[in-house]
Amino acid sequence: MKLSKIALLTSGGDSPGMNACIRAIVKCALNNKIEVFGVEDGYQGMIEGRIRKMSYSDVDNIIQYGGTILGTARSKDFLTVSGRKKAIDNLQKLQINGLVVIGGDGSFAGANQLTKEMDIAVIGIPGTIDNDIFGTDHTIGYDSALNTVVSAVDKIRDTATSHHRIFFIEVMGRDAGFIALNSAIASGAEIALIPEEVTDLEELVANIKNSNKGKRSTIVIVAEGDDAGGAKEIMDKVKPFLQEYELRYSVLGHIQRGGSPSVKDRIMATQMGVHAVNLLISGETNRMIGINGEKLVNHPIEKSIKQHDKPDISKLILLDSLRTHF
Ligand code: ATP
Repeated sequence: MKLSKIALLTSGGDSPGMNACIRAIVKCALNNKIEVFGVEDGYQGMIEGRIRKMSYSDVDNIIQYGGTILGTARSKDFLTVSGRKKAIDNLQKLQINGLVVIGGDGSFAGANQLTKEMDIAVIGIPGTIDNDIFGTDHTIGYDSALNTVVSAVDKIRDTATSHHRIFFIEVMGRDAGFIALNSAIASGAEIALIPEEVTDLEELVANIKNSNKGKRSTIVIVAEGDDAGGAKEIMDKVKPFLQEYELRYSVLGHIQRGGSPSVKDRIMATQMGVHAVNLLISGETNRMIGINGEKLVNHPIEKSIKQHDKPDISKLILLDSLRTHF
């Protein structure tokens, strides 16, 4: 089937750089005489028929903005056969025969399911700040989120040092510690607690006491999915053993998702967007695009649905070797 009309959507959590990717897809498709339709709010908009034709002017001047101009959502209806039937009817009415999905592995599972129920070619682009998608070194938004976190931790360090405080800073990462581990290294934090490692509270207390010797502050970065709890919960658990210190916590929350995308995310999102259109043109389907070093790669989408990526936990040794040991 000749590719004539494609749709694109952003799905799951938003991430900085999604707009850069949308821009690349729309421009590249139009330059190849392919009509492009933007689906609003992910699969939910597909079900509700909120699908609009896009032109060059829709993507003018958006590369620098965070979020997604198409909107995003998590759709319970799309998990049902009847919900997907409505979505398929809406795509068929417009004679759409290609789809680009920018999102996480859940969004890819949805796309994969769609190809089993209709004749459509699908390409997935990894867009999530968590960086936990299998088959790519980096996901769109991760680098921007990491920079946002590091800049926030730098600011907290100023006040922590001024007041001789120990700070527990909670960052995003329900299932993966990429943001926590790498922001800890980049901000000079003393300790990182990540979901991939069991947290030993006794050891944590000892490490805090040690690292705080001769120092005015200690920073503990806590991934929200750590097995011992969030930043406040962990702080409360260790407080009785650290009574001589002033403890504080901070939950960085949604600021990590927003803001202007980093240069790295803009470039990668642009490369991936163009590659997605080219893959569709060459007749590929059910592929997920990734980046390996500087090189674009693509894999069967199913691979990234079945597996999760994990950070290199040997990097924890870096923190350990730089922490004060008396
Ligand atoms: P993030 O990493 O930011 O959470 P995600 O893409 O993994 O992004 P999910 O909420 O898991 O986010 O998935 C997005 C949407 O994809 C879901 O709301 C649902 O509509 C659809 N989806 C997820 N899993 C499936 C599935 N197995 N079958 C059909 N649709 C699915």
